[in-house]
Amino acid sequence: MNNSLFSGVMWFKAKYMAIKRVWIEHGCIAAGYCNEICPEVFGLDDFGEAFIEEDADFAANEKGIREAALTCPVKVIKFGEE
Ligand code: SF4
Repeated sequence: MNNSLFSGVMWFKAKYMAIKRVWIEHGCIAAGYCNEICPEVFGLDDFGEAFIEEDADFAANEKGIREAALTCPVKVIKFGEE
């Protein structure tokens, strides 16, 4: 995919596709970046491993969720859009 097409797809997704689900797959290495970027959605347990905060507002934190997923060094943050 060329750069302009990729940018267009990303713009469309960011504008029209809302994040409805967020989850963390097995393999978190307790780096903590997700919590630094978006503490409203990502908490850390006693071992520093991430979890999704109860009652997290995904719609209000879409930018943070996307940034956390991109930043996570082991890419275990996943989200579903509709
Ligand atoms: S950024 Fe990734 S590895 Fe680090 S705590 Fe969050 S989910 Fe775990």
